[in-house]
Formats: sequence, structure tokens, C-alpha cells
Amino acid sequence: MKNYDKIIFELSQPGRQGYSLPKDNYGTDGLSGIPAELLREKDAELPEVSELDVVRHYTNLSNKNFGVDTGFYPLGSCTMKYNPKINEELCALPAFTSLHPQQNEESVQGALELYYNLQQMLSELAGLKEFTLNPYAGAHGELTGLMVMKKYHEAKGDHKRTKVIVPDSAHGTNPASAMVAGLEVVEVKSKPNGSIDVEDLKPLLDDTVAGIMMTNPNTLGMFETEITEIAKLVHEAGGLLYYDGANLNPLLGKVRPGDMGFDIMHINLHKTFSTPHGGGGPGSGPVGVAPHLVKHLPNPRVVKDENGKFHITSNNEDALGNISSFLGNFGVMMRAYAYILTLGKENIKNVGPLATLNANYIKENLKDDYLLPIEGVCKHEFVFDGLRDKSTEVTTLNVAKRLLDYGFHAPTIYFPLLFHESMMIEPTETESKDTLDQFIAVMHTIAKEAKENPELVKNAPNNTIVRKLDETTAAKNPILTFKALKENEA
Ligand SMILES: *Cc1c(COP(=O)(O)O)cnc(C)c1O
Repeated sequence: MKNYDKIIFELSQPGRQGYSLPKDNYGTDGLSGIPAELLREKDAELPEVSELDVVRHYTNLSNKNFGVDTGFYPLGSCTMKYNPKINEELCALPAFTSLHPQQNEESVQGALELYYNLQQMLSELAGLKEFTLNPYAGAHGELTGLMVMKKYHEAKGDHKRTKVIVPDSAHGTNPASAMVAGLEVVEVKSKPNGSIDVEDLKPLLDDTVAGIMMTNPNTLGMFETEITEIAKLVHEAGGLLYYDGANLNPLLGKVRPGDMGFDIMHINLHKTFSTPHGGGGPGSGPVGVAPHLVKHLPNPRVVKDENGKFHITSNNEDALGNISSFLGNFGVMMRAYAYILTLGKENIKNVGPLATLNANYIKENLKDDYLLPIEGVCKHEFVFDGLRDKSTEVTTLNVAKRLLDYGFHAPTIYFPLLFHESMMIEPTETESKDTLDQFIAVMHTIAKEAKENPELVKNAPNNTIVRKLDETTAAKNPILTFKALKENEA
């Protein structure tokens, strides 16, 4: 508990105030003139602090945050990239923030046009026919997409198809979404190089398979070169292909999931298309489909009539019902729209090559100190299996914690589950060579420390505000207020 001494301290002093109300309106006790039924029965238990105390308290807390605006954030599988500030300004424009979802169509034509145009842009980038922007997150998009898949088979009277094939390297939300959609998960093994084993897949493809969920490049950042063969096999067996497009940055404008043979996909606007994420939101997980599935997309849909007017329709009987309130998270869509228009058709093609170059640059510069289980050119991310020299028993967790001492966010660790000491690194397309070089230098330093002074690395973090946390308790039973801390200690 003593760890907390440095950061949490009682600021409250009886009688100290940070505000004053006009005496003319509210009297000397600050209460007269307020209707009796609005008065509290008991005083609120608020700290009694001065204005300056409050301002300093919150400013200091905000400085203890780590984010992409404060430092390098090499979080694999979760694309934490630069979020252009102009997008924030645009989506805060009063003309948009003051809209109400129940306004009539005529008065929100501009917003609907943006929505419609974004649907079209995503369809073009994905090589699919149409998109819905309604889902709130990647996992929500997966659920929606799988419900479309289920509906498609059911509409054909094909009720036997209840299985979804998911690779063992998949993101955890994939099997979870399949279960929630009422489908059964069947795992397919990866080959030692991380790609799907086609020979292992073949016997699974029977008339009970609804489809397969994949991502390409896969979770190890490697491109599935046999994807067209896989698509052919799954389609021949009557199944559909679902693409997890949470992290689309390696492919943007270059390769399209629709062209690879995928029928359904989701995109995380809050990863690939510039909305800052983490801490649970806000997000948006649009779902795109091939032509034969458009009629099953959820209601409501935004459509354009022959006079160029936009409408919100819910009159499609084959469609899924509503999967969100109204049309989804509009602010996130605005950022994505601004991001795509800012880059334009030509520049958007630079995203993938730069993400790929940055990832390979780090990988090649660190593989003498860190174990690279899969050689070859990766896409936007790659995985190390811990330190090459494991003789001092310094773990991936230790390295991750030591990075914090040097002012870097840790990479994703212990995922994917294919290796014991996974360390998944994605620099993203938006980092400069200087930043990558600093990160490489620090990773080399940590590898050296692990040999020469392993205890230093094992005890990390040493310079952060709090040291090692009990992560389970911190997640399941967080102590978020001073009062709760005092009660917990009592
Ligand atoms: C982040 C992510 C998801 C889930 O997205 P959420 O918005 O967090 O629900 C799914 N798949 C992959 C590969 C991801 O990286």
C-alpha cells in the first residue's frame, strides 16, 4: 500500500472553498433562492479545496497519463497511431455536435451525405459492395458480420451450418463473437511460420461450416500467401469468408479483402482511421459485405435517391434488426471521413508501405538481441519470442516494464499465444526514423542490462509513479478514490 504515498494525499481542509456564488442571487449561505425541493438533504461529501488545489491536482494527474500524444506506443495488433488534431476540431464543429438523431431527414442532409459517402469510400477501399456504419466497435462489427453470415445460411434454409473456423492465432474477440452469435467455434492450426495450414483446414470443410474468420496479414504480421486457395476451398464447401479488418493499415489502397475472396469484413475506424482509442471508447466497427449479402445488413440504412437526396430506411425485410441506437457513433465517422479526404486516393497508398517499412526496420535491427521465431518480411507488425539470451531468466514482462522506465509504452505482450514469451511490436506508419532509432537503442540497452544486471530489469519499473501493480486486483477491484483507499486500509 505504501506505494500510493507518493501520489495520493489528502488535500481537503475544512472550510476551504474553490468557488463563490453571487450573494445577490443566493444569499450569504449560498442557498436562498434555490427551491426547497432541489436542496440536498445531506451535505455532499466533497473535498474542501481551493481552486488552485483543484487545478493543480487535475493538471498533475493528466501529466501522469501516457498516450500517443506523449510518447511512442508500439502496441501490436491494436494500431495506436497519430490522431490528427484537425479531425478533432472538425468533429467538434457545432453544426454537427448540435444535431439530434431524431431530427427529420430534410434537416440533416449534410450529416447523411457524410455517412453515405463514408460507406462508399470504405466499400471502395475494401473491394466490397456495401457497408453499414452502425456497429460501435470491432467486436460489435464481428458480431454483426457473423449474424449476417448466419442469416444468409438460414435464408437459404441451410440450418445445419453452425460452425465457424477460427485460426489458433486469432484475436480473442473472434471466437468470442462467434459464440455470442450462437455459432460453434472450430480451431484450425497455424503452421510454424504462422500461416493457416491448408492441409489441416481441408478436413474441417463440410456442410456444417458457416464460414471462416481470418485476418490477412495474420496476427504475426505475415501475409497469408495461400489466401486465394483458402477462399476457393471454403466457397466450394458452401461457407463464407469473414475478414477481421481491425488493423487495415498495411493494406490501405493497395490490396482489398474483397479481391482476396472475403465476403464480410469489419473495419475499426478507431484504429486504422485515426480516432484515438483505448480505455473503452469511443469506437466504430463498420461492416462491409459482398453483393449477395447486402440485403442482410442491419437496419437502418442510409441510401441516396435518384434526386441526390439522402434517406434513412428500415423497410428491408431480409435485414437484421437494429444493432445500435440510431446510426452508430457519428463523431468517429467524421474523423475517419476527414482522415480519408486529407490523404486522398494517392497518399492513402503510402500508409501500408510506411507501416511495413517501419516494422521491418525495427525487426531487423533488434533480431540479434531478441528471438525472431518467424523470419521473412512482415507487414505492419511482428512478434519476438522474448530475449534471445534467456540464461538470466529475464522475461518479456520484465522487458516491457523496463521500457516504461525509459519513457516508452510497452508493446503487446504474451499475445499471440503461439509463443511463450510473445512480444508483439507495431510502430505504425506515422513514426519518424528518429523515434524508431531511439526505441531500438533502448531495446538494445535493456538486452545488455538483462545480461549484466538482470535484477535491475526484473525489478522494473523503477522510475514510474507506481511500481509493479497487482494487475488482476487493479482490473477487478480498482481503488479509484481516496475514500475507497482509506476504507480499504481501515
Ligand atoms: C482491436 C481488435 C479487435 C476488436 O476491436 P474492438 O473495437 O476492441 O472491439 C478485433 N480484432 C483485432 C485483430 C483487433 O486488433
